[in-house]
Amino acid sequence: MLKKKSNILLIYTGGTIGMIKDSDTGALRSFDFNNLLTRIPELKILDCDITTISFENPIDSSNMNPKYWVQIAEIIEENYINFDGFVVLHGSDTMSYTASALSFMLEHLSKPVILTGSQLPIGDLRTDAKENLITSIQIAALKQNNTSVIKEVGLYFEYKLYRGNRTTKINAEHFEAFESLNYPHLVESGVHLKVNKKQLLQANHSNSLIVRKNLCTDIVLIKLFPGITELVLKTILSVPDLKGVILETYGAGNCTTEQWFINLISNAIKKGIVIINVTQCSGGSVIMGQYETSTALKKAGVISGHDITTEAAIVKLMYLLGQNINPKEFKTIFETPLRGELTQN
Ligand code: ASP
Repeated sequence: MLKKKSNILLIYTGGTIGMIKDSDTGALRSFDFNNLLTRIPELKILDCDITTISFENPIDSSNMNPKYWVQIAEIIEENYINFDGFVVLHGSDTMSYTASALSFMLEHLSKPVILTGSQLPIGDLRTDAKENLITSIQIAALKQNNTSVIKEVGLYFEYKLYRGNRTTKINAEHFEAFESLNYPHLVESGVHLKVNKKQLLQANHSNSLIVRKNLCTDIVLIKLFPGITELVLKTILSVPDLKGVILETYGAGNCTTEQWFINLISNAIKKGIVIINVTQCSGGSVIMGQYETSTALKKAGVISGHDITTEAAIVKLMYLLGQNINPKEFKTIFETPLRGELTQN
């Protein structure tokens, strides 16, 4: 049977990868996407067909927000049937959030959506942009038995493809800017592309793509620190319309046992605010009840984020709060892996 060339849609949202230095100020700013392609003639010799689409006004990813996530998801939705894979060029600063968001928004995804970017602009002599872009396209184009090998949202950076919702940006300087400390990488790029098949999400091809666009942003992230005051916590928890809290705790999900703290948390839960426990550590998992300093949280009804990243927890909370889930089922659903974003312990 004749092997069909993969059809890849390259979506440019902004970020360093497509920036140039302003000659007057020296600051990096986005430039016209068409120039990006002229800077990488190698794209023309790849064994796939590439179509490009760009945000009208490309953004630095520090300006990323849920409206842009919907915009990216809609581009994928509108082009889903006509392409075998999607590569999203994105700034690295908030790439892990966008990768997590897309993973939840694109339900029953059975094609690759690969996010990538770079630490240095594409025009820079020492740029990491070319390798990141070219290999991302090759990974998105990978097929076996005429179906895509990757069927999930991935993030490719510096020779590794990670599950997008498992990543965190860990370095603002190194080319190796991302890590996925609680889940192995999916592909490693060396002389050959080494696919870690056992770690890939499998898709049920009989389900068609559903794009979930309703995200609730009435949430807050609270990072605990020794010395946090009752007034600060009380003020945050009484924000009008607050629906969810990501509580970044110490170690395996521990917090102070001071009574005022536990009372504020319990009362917020009684008021209907959902509280998710995630760890401040980059690796490892929340295990509520392992120490006395987390038992009260468990009793109060705090939800365990297990080994989820803060980025994925924030977006999962936005996504689930936007789905009108029965409050009685919310805990069970949050604690269940929906897109491979957490490991239950
Ligand atoms: N500030 C840039 C952005 O996130 C950094 C990058 O592209 O890596 O858009």
